[in-house]
Amino acid sequence: MPLKVDIVTAERLVYSEEGVDEVVAPGIDGELTVLPMHAPLLTMIKPGIMRIVKGGQDTDMAITGGFLEVRDDRVTILADAAERADEIDVVRAEEARRRAERVLEERVSEEELARAAASLQRALLRLKVAERRRRRTGLRPGPPGV
Ligand code: ATP
Repeated sequence: MPLKVDIVTAERLVYSEEGVDEVVAPGIDGELTVLPMHAPLLTMIKPGIMRIVKGGQDTDMAITGGFLEVRDDRVTILADAAERADEIDVVRAEEARRRAERVLEERVSEEELARAAASLQRALLRLKVAERRRRRTGLRPGPPGV
């Protein structure tokens, strides 16, 4: 029995597929591989790359944190934010990176620093996922659909 995988955020259903062979997620304690017949599990995930393998095809996703549950060959991820590699707007991520870097260079409060550092981490993650896709497919970076 392959896996059924749902990735949801407060905003949208990001991914919902049956027939998935493998999910590799950035678990809080390290990389987590879920194959069919996995034991029940509820864990936190940290910002990182999630890989979904279905029918020999890999889909990369940028995921900014959340929870992952495995039960009866169903994998449910409640994510803060998640985008498939082909949905990532590289220009937006570059802008977010520059904004965060500017804040980090200023003398700002601890709170602002922490916020900028987290924002920078998200932007770098998105750029990494988009770049991996570009290398694999030979596509040039750009907003989705371009
Ligand atoms: P920004 O400063 O550009 O808004 P952010 O890191 O603050 O970036 P989040 O709060 O993590 O953004 O996400 C808000 C929403 O925007 C989510 O739905 C997320 O999937 C989406 N999103 C953020 N950045 C991008 C991007 N570069 N490409 C596509 N979707 C994005």
